[in-house]
Amino acid sequence: MSRFLNSALDALTPYTPGEQPQGGTFIKLNTNESPYPPSDGVLNILGRAEAEKLNLYSDPTLNPVTTSLAKRFGVESKNVYAGNGSDEVLAIAMYAFGEKGFSFPDITYGFYSVIADFFRIGCTRPKLKDDFTIDISYYMKNDRAVIIANPNAPTGIFLPLSEIEKILSANPDHVVIVDEAYVEFGGESAASLVSKYENLLVVGTFSKAWNLAGARLGYAVGSSELISDLNRLRCSFHPYNINRLTLLAGQKAVEEEQYYIECRKKIIFTRTRVQAELESLGFTCTPSMANFIFARPPMGDAERIYKALYDKKVLVRYFAGGRTKEYLRISVGSDEQMDKFLDALKSIL
Ligand code: PMP
Repeated sequence: MSRFLNSALDALTPYTPGEQPQGGTFIKLNTNESPYPPSDGVLNILGRAEAEKLNLYSDPTLNPVTTSLAKRFGVESKNVYAGNGSDEVLAIAMYAFGEKGFSFPDITYGFYSVIADFFRIGCTRPKLKDDFTIDISYYMKNDRAVIIANPNAPTGIFLPLSEIEKILSANPDHVVIVDEAYVEFGGESAASLVSKYENLLVVGTFSKAWNLAGARLGYAVGSSELISDLNRLRCSFHPYNINRLTLLAGQKAVEEEQYYIECRKKIIFTRTRVQAELESLGFTCTPSMANFIFARPPMGDAERIYKALYDKKVLVRYFAGGRTKEYLRISVGSDEQMDKFLDALKSIL
C-alpha cells in the first residue's frame, strides 16, 4: 500500500477471483466458464473490418446490445442496461440503490460484500437454512434493498419465482436485485415480472450461458426509471464502458441463441450425469440449476481433495471457512473434461 492511498480505503479486502492459470495444462473447472466456444456469427464478426474501427469510440447508448436484449426479453430498449461484465452492473446498481443498505444471504456470491465495502454500504446477511435454501421470512420484514442470486452461488439452488414475488411485494420501497448469472441452466427468469414490479432489477451476464466470459458483458432489465438511474451513474463515471467488439459480439450472440441453447442442454446433461456419479461415490450434492455442482465429499475433507485434484492438474473451487468448508464447487465442463475430473477424483478417494 502506498502512502498516497486514501486512508478510508486501507481496510478494503478485494475479491479473490478463481485462479486463471496461463497455459493449457489444467482441466479448468473453477470459474464456471462455458467449455464451448462462441457461435460462428460471433467469431466471424470479430474480424479485421470491425477491428479497424477501434479508432472510434463505442456507442455510449450501449447499442446494439441493448436493442437485441430488449427484443429477447419482450421489453423496450429503455428497460435494458449493459455493463462491462455483470460485476460492473452489480456495482453500479448497489451504489445507486444502496442508500439504506442491502440484505443478501450469508452464503452467496462473494462479490456483493466486496462492492458493499467499496461503497460503504451497510449489509445484513440473513442465514440460509441448513439445506442451503433461502429463508424468505427474513425478507418479509426487511428495511433495505435486497440482492438474491438466483440460482444462488455457490449452491446452485433456484428460488421459485413465486417466492421472488413475495420478496418483491413485501419490499415496495426497496429495490430487489435478482442476479441471474446462471438462470439459463434450468431456472426461470424474473425478467417477465419487470412490468409488474417497479422495484425489480434483473441482472444477467454473457459469461456463463453465452460462452463469452472473456468479452466482459453483463446487463440489467428493469423499469425505465431504474435503468435511467443506472445510465445516469454510468455516464457520470464511464460512458464508454463497453468496447465496440463486445457490443457487437453480444448482439450476434443473442441473434444466434439457438446455438447457445444447444450448449446449455449439453451442460445440463453433463451436470446430471456427473452429479449421479458423484453421488454414487458418496458425495452429497445440492440440487444445482447452474453450470456447476456443489458437492460434499463423503468424509467432508473438501480441502484435501481440492489440493489433491490441483496436484493432478484439475482445478475446482474451494471456499474455506464457514458452512461451505466441506464442499467443492465444480464447474461443469465438457464430457471429456468431466471424465478426466472423475478419474482423478476416483484415484484420490
Ligand atoms: N453473479 C454471480 C452469481 C456470479 O457467480 C458471477 C461470476 N463470478 C457474476 C455475477 C459476475 O459475472 P461477470 O462479471 O463475468 O458477468
